[in-house]
Amino acid sequence: MRVLIVEDEPKLLIQLADGVAAAGYAVDLADNGVHALHLGNTEPYDAVVLDLGLPKMDGLSVLRQWRASARTMPVLILTARDGWHEKVAGIDAGADDYLAKPFHMEELLARLRALIRRSGGHASAELVCGPLCLDTRNSRVTLSGQALTLTSHEYRVLAYLMHHQGQVVSRTALVEHIYAQDFDRDSNTVEVFIGRLRKKLPADMIETVRGLGYRLAVPP
Ligand code: CA
Repeated sequence: MRVLIVEDEPKLLIQLADGVAAAGYAVDLADNGVHALHLGNTEPYDAVVLDLGLPKMDGLSVLRQWRASARTMPVLILTARDGWHEKVAGIDAGADDYLAKPFHMEELLARLRALIRRSGGHASAELVCGPLCLDTRNSRVTLSGQALTLTSHEYRVLAYLMHHQGQVVSRTALVEHIYAQDFDRDSNTVEVFIGRLRKKLPADMIETVRGLGYRLAVPP
């Protein structure tokens, strides 16, 4: 899962980047509205954290432009403590949720998880596929109740497949959702991660769909 964080206050931006990355997401950063608008228009994010007061272009305008060009990713806006009018304007502009500053990182992460799972049509914080269970609250994966040890990239690949289980996920989509923008991307490494995951999972759980990509499913 890949998240865009937009915040112009340097300290808060770093805090957000560290907290969200530590929760297992690939993270891209923008510190002004124009850069945010461009990234949101060109990169496929699973969620966006958007501050409203931004240099160059304010957050509400960014959000309105995304929605006007049919960018539907979930957006969590950051508002001023007593800014009820900001919340109303933000939701009307297409925000899916809001959080008033100052906030606790744990609350922001919980709201992010909820947004991402709702956008994938999942009601529970635990994603289950046969014997495999991913608890999005603590990024833990178990297989028949036993903890699986995964590297951060293996986790991101598996989390993306679990959020889209039963669907064919292209290698390009995996690359775009597990790496941040400035990462040296190599689609061959996705195959390596898939190979390693297969060794840790029951045979045939990750199916190769020739020419299209991969599908995570309970083996028949
Ligand atoms: Ca600001």
